[in-house]
Amino acid sequence: MLELCPVGSKTDRPCPRLATTEPQGRERGGRKLCEVHAALKPLEEEIEDLGAAEELLEGWIEEARRLDNASLEMVLRHAREEMSARLEFLEEGVDAVHTTQR
Ligand SMILES: [Zn+2]
Repeated sequence: MLELCPVGSKTDRPCPRLATTEPQGRERGGRKLCEVHAALKPLEEEIEDLGAAEELLEGWIEEARRLDNASLEMVLRHAREEMSARLEFLEEGVDAVHTTQR
């Protein structure tokens, strides 16, 4: 039986597409979504992971500063910049899909 995509079903802007596709990523094998939202799942998970990683890096940068280890701090700051850039790129992409697909 075909059901509607559950994304936004509890909001005033529910997804209008049919739930035809199994999500990829950590929710693989979970409740079916529309093609668009199923494809976005792994990206949303990456965004979540990057957000968590950024927080961890913040703590490690603090620790490097506390240890007065400039080399470590530099490497960690570089990693954080790369993560921020990737996060921004993914968020913009996912937002663009949400605003054009709904
Ligand atoms: Zn959907």
